[in-house]
Amino acid sequence: MSELLYCKKCVISNYRPSSVVEFENKPSDEKPYINFKNGVCSACIFKEIKEQIDWDSRKQELEVLCDKYRSKNHSYDCIVPGSGGKDSGFTAHYLKNEMGMNPLTVTWAPHIYTNNGWRNFQAWIDVGGFDNFLIHPNGKVHKKLTRLAFEKLGHPFQPFIIGQKMVGPRMSVLHDIPLVFYGENQAEYGNNIEDNYSPLMENRFFSSTYKDGKVENFYLSGYQEQELIDHHNINPKYLEIYKPLDSNKIKKAGTEVHFLGYYYKWDPQEMYYYAVENTGFRANDTRTQGSYSKYAGIDDKIDWLHYFMTVVKFGIGRATYDASQEIRNEKITREEGISLVQKYDNEFPEIYFEEILEYLDIEGAKFWEIVDKFRNPLFWKKINNQWSRINIIEN
Ligand SMILES: [Zn+2]
Repeated sequence: MSELLYCKKCVISNYRPSSVVEFENKPSDEKPYINFKNGVCSACIFKEIKEQIDWDSRKQELEVLCDKYRSKNHSYDCIVPGSGGKDSGFTAHYLKNEMGMNPLTVTWAPHIYTNNGWRNFQAWIDVGGFDNFLIHPNGKVHKKLTRLAFEKLGHPFQPFIIGQKMVGPRMSVLHDIPLVFYGENQAEYGNNIEDNYSPLMENRFFSSTYKDGKVENFYLSGYQEQELIDHHNINPKYLEIYKPLDSNKIKKAGTEVHFLGYYYKWDPQEMYYYAVENTGFRANDTRTQGSYSKYAGIDDKIDWLHYFMTVVKFGIGRATYDASQEIRNEKITREEGISLVQKYDNEFPEIYFEEILEYLDIEGAKFWEIVDKFRNPLFWKKINNQWSRINIIEN
C-alpha cells in the first residue's frame, strides 16, 4: 500500500480507482489508482491542459465528423446512450440542435428508478424530443448479478456499468448506426491523462475477440460464465446482454464511440443549467445523502450504495467526487471542499436502505458482514466495537 496523499489542489486522494475493463474484472486483480505528480492529481493536471485547448478548433473537428455522418434521408445518424440526466440531456440536445444530427437515444435501465429519475427520463424524451429505446435486462438475473457483485467484489454497480458502457456500441451494431456519442471522458477525472487526447473510447472497453463463439476473458460479478451457470443457477441465455461485442462485428459496422467532452468544454454545472433549460431536467429538492449536491447521479436508488462502498474500500465518497470536480471548475474553494467532505462524505445513505436490502434479497446482518469484509484498514478502525472512519482529509 502506498502512503495516503491528498491532492494539493482538490480533495481527491491517491486511492481513487481508475476505470478498468469491467467485464474482465476479477477479485484478485490489482486496482489501478489515479496518478499524482508533485502532490497534484492527474485530474487537476488535466484541468490546466484543458484551459489551453483551442475549443473553437475542437468544435470544427466535431462539425467535420458530423458532416461525414449526417443523415440525408431522415434515418438516425448517431446514437446517444444515457438516462436523461444532465449529461445525456446536453449531449443529445446539442447534437440535434447545434449540429443538425438525428440522434437515437438509448437507455440501459437503472436498477430501481427514483421518482425524479423516471420523471427526468421522460422529460428528456418529451421535452427534448427524441426517439428512445429503453433496454432492460432480465430483472431477476440482474438482481442476482448485482448481489453477487456486491458480495464478491464489493461493487454492486458492476453489472450495470458493463451494460451501460456496452449499450451504445450494441445498438450501433444492431441498427447499423456507426457513430456513438457518450458525454465526457471519465479520464478527465483521473485515468491516464493521455486518454483525453483522443476523442474515442478505446474498443477494449466494449468489445473483445471471440473464439469458438466464446469471449476469452469474460468475468461478470467476479465470476466466470461457467461458475454463474453451474453454481448460481443462471441461464446462459440471459448473460449474452452483458458480454462484450465481437470485435469483428464492430469492425464490420464501422462503430466509432466518441466522447462529446473531447469537442466541447465539459463543466457539469453548466450541463445541468443547459438540461434544465432544454430537456426539462429537474434537480432534487434536497441534497443527496453522502454529499451536498442535488443534480448528479440521482436516477437510481442503488447509486447511494455504490458510493457508500467506495467510502468503505477507498475512503472516497460522493462528497469527495463532487467537491473535487467543483474545485477544479472553480465553483467552490478547496477550503469549502474540505469542510463539505468532512461533513458529508461518510454519511450513511439510509434513504433507500430498506429498498436496497429487499432488491438484493439480503438480511441486514448479512449486508453488514459483507460491508465489513471490504473495509480498508487505511480508512476504517474499530473503536469501542464500532467502525469509525479514519484518515479523513484535514488540510
Ligand atoms: Zn486534484
